[in-house]
Amino acid sequence: MHLPKPITEIIERLEDEGYEAYVVGGCVRDSMMHMTAHDYDIATSALPLETKRVFSFCRVIETGIKHGTVSVLYKGSCVEITTFRVDGDYLDGRHPQSVDFSTKLSDDLSRRDFTINGIAYSHLRGFYDPFYGARDITLKIIRCIGDPEKRFSEDALRILRALRFAAVLGFEIEENTKAALIAHKSDIKQVSKERIFAELKRLICGKYVERVILEFAEVFSEIIPELSAEINYEQGSKFHNSTLLEHTARAVHAAPKEIHIRLAMLFHDIGKPLCRTTDENGECHYYGHAEISARMTDGILRGLKCDNALRERVCEIVRLHDLPTEPNEKYVRKQLSKRGYELFCDILQAKIADNSAKIPEAAERIPLLLRTLELAEKINAEQPCISLRSLAVNGNDLKRFIPPSAVMGEVLARLLEEVVDGEVENEKNVLLSRAREIYDSIKA
Ligand code: ATP
Ligand code: MG
Repeated sequence: MHLPKPITEIIERLEDEGYEAYVVGGCVRDSMMHMTAHDYDIATSALPLETKRVFSFCRVIETGIKHGTVSVLYKGSCVEITTFRVDGDYLDGRHPQSVDFSTKLSDDLSRRDFTINGIAYSHLRGFYDPFYGARDITLKIIRCIGDPEKRFSEDALRILRALRFAAVLGFEIEENTKAALIAHKSDIKQVSKERIFAELKRLICGKYVERVILEFAEVFSEIIPELSAEINYEQGSKFHNSTLLEHTARAVHAAPKEIHIRLAMLFHDIGKPLCRTTDENGECHYYGHAEISARMTDGILRGLKCDNALRERVCEIVRLHDLPTEPNEKYVRKQLSKRGYELFCDILQAKIADNSAKIPEAAERIPLLLRTLELAEKINAEQPCISLRSLAVNGNDLKRFIPPSAVMGEVLARLLEEVVDGEVENEKNVLLSRAREIYDSIKA
């Protein structure tokens, strides 16, 4: 296994001082899957203060010294080094009662969640894989280390971690692990909203999220009870050939792997069951569902302690996911002016994902949406005049012939509208004479 030079050197220094040290967890798993690891965690038999002493020539930060973790700034890299641990009993389904340090690697690996995360490696000592994690990586299986019932009751966040690894890596969850996580699904409530939401965000961006949403709908419903109404919900609409949850899962999958759009797709139709009407032909309609879904999304994301900027962005996309769009310049300019470039592109992305998840005829709209997106990109790149700030005149220029009053605002707004519509050029003299005309017509 390849290790970056600073990691190898840190391990060697600890070994030279008589301790054992390995890389463990995610980086070993990722490297066995030929994926680039994003960080390398080191586990060692050295106690935190001993690690500090070994690296006394570096800056050492006591990241979580109580839990055995210190961060060493070594040759430009910041590396977390954690003493081997055995967790005490979990009394609240969240935190171990105590953390004891250990000198045995096997203790440390036993407390880890899944076999694929329980492998250690060092150049000196090779692989140590007591739970056959390498086999499970090859078989693409997520399996608890130890008794799944016990492991999920110790820490219910592991339920979501299992789903996250399934959604990101495309692995199956082993039968007993699956049965236990479903049996313990209601324990998720004991986990903090912040930890839940952090996992949910990663899960939802996974390549295999569609399958996971459908297979574990009941677990999702624990976190987002509103979603349970989508399960087996027949839409009764000629545009759809699947249940509401199937449509939702497909739409999430079809969206770019960006958290705001993926969350928007997860919630875009969540209000549908609340606003169904049936016409005389037996066809169902969901008038106003985008608005209702947006309001529900707001409540759900507040409950999950989502940050305000993300929450507001997701809600806007949900609220506007049925916005009628046209692939023509005038329309796109107006939208860019009204909503801003980012939101308008988000809406188009949401519409593309939505239409990919309906009947095949709906997909025929996608080329038009892509054309609209291209237009938006083109117009935005030309740095068009789309806000009052970029208009070639301002209130100061106009005050020679317009008294400062409400009329001033109206003239500026009309000028902006005409520039956005391409009716007048965004040029100072052109706008000055046009402003005079508008002002005269208002006065008259
Ligand atoms: P990634 O960094 O890609 O999220 P990871 O597996 O490294 O994946 P981390 O959250 O960084 O995940 O955790 C590092 C290691 O710590 C894991 O590989 C696992 O061995 C262990 N671990 C993390 N969270 C838990 C948990 N809730 N219960 C048991 N072990 C855990
Ligand atoms: Mg990690």
